[in-house]
Amino acid sequence: MTRKCLNCGEPIQGRTDKKFCSYQCRNIYNNKIKREHEKIILEINKALRKNRSILKLFSPEGKTTIRKEYLEKLGFDFRYHTHTFKTKNNNTYKFCYEFGYLTLENNKLLIVNWQPYMEKDKFDNS
Ligand SMILES: [Zn+2]
Repeated sequence: MTRKCLNCGEPIQGRTDKKFCSYQCRNIYNNKIKREHEKIILEINKALRKNRSILKLFSPEGKTTIRKEYLEKLGFDFRYHTHTFKTKNNNTYKFCYEFGYLTLENNKLLIVNWQPYMEKDKFDNS
């Protein structure tokens, strides 16, 4: 069975563990993979930044209650957050950097600012 280059599909000569026909093809292929990974990171970073600016918009000075659809209309992406904070009452706030929200009943959200007392539990997702 002839092995084919992962990049260009040409048959490969030589060692049986070779995946590419040439150094050039290996570089092109690896750069493409790297770019795809970078793209995913950039897209998520962009979504997180956008989420943060939307939360900031609705939280000029602390707590605000708002309908979820307002955030959705502005392009808030509920898939992404940076960390969570769980209260003693078992409410989990989701944060995008220093702004967060708690999902309430009736499709409403409580938007909050990060508080210093939350720091010790920042990475406690249990
Ligand atoms: Zn090739």
